Amino acid sequence: MAADCIFCKIAAGEIPAEKIYEDDKILAFLDLKPSSRGHALVIHKFHTADFASTPDGILNEIVPAVKRIAAGIMKATGAAGFNLTTNNGPAAGQVVFHLHFHIIPRYAGDGLKLFPQHESEKSKRQMLAEEIKKNLA
Ligand code: AMP
Ligand code: ZN
Repeated sequence: MAADCIFCKIAAGEIPAEKIYEDDKILAFLDLKPSSRGHALVIHKFHTADFASTPDGILNEIVPAVKRIAAGIMKATGAAGFNLTTNNGPAAGQVVFHLHFHIIPRYAGDGLKLFPQHESEKSKRQMLAEEIKKNLA
């Protein structure tokens, strides 16, 4: 447990939340300010700040749980789909620095636009792809 981490405090029962799933490692609860009905957050009880700094072993435990919880949310809400996101770093809008996955249920015609898209030039895409490939370990 990390001091002053709001999600560790929820996991420890020190701050209330609308819990929807809990086991010895994983906790899921409804987002306080939902983007859609049923918007939930899934955390691992092992504190890590963000996705990039989380060991693979922890990710291997949380991802199947996210899948199972998303299926339950879909059934309960009647949603037609869902967006799965994690904000990694302040530039990406992360404000709570305990890894969490957002499950955002989507409803037909809800008009929610999460990721605006832009045109790009093929030559720039190719150069960027090469640069990224070089930097992959
Ligand atoms: P982010 O770090 O950008 O992924 O955003 C953190 C998310 O946590 C936001 O969607 C908040 O609405 C949500 N949140 C913050 N505090 C609580 C809380 N006490 N209970 C439930 N959700 C929370
Ligand atoms: Zn924490």
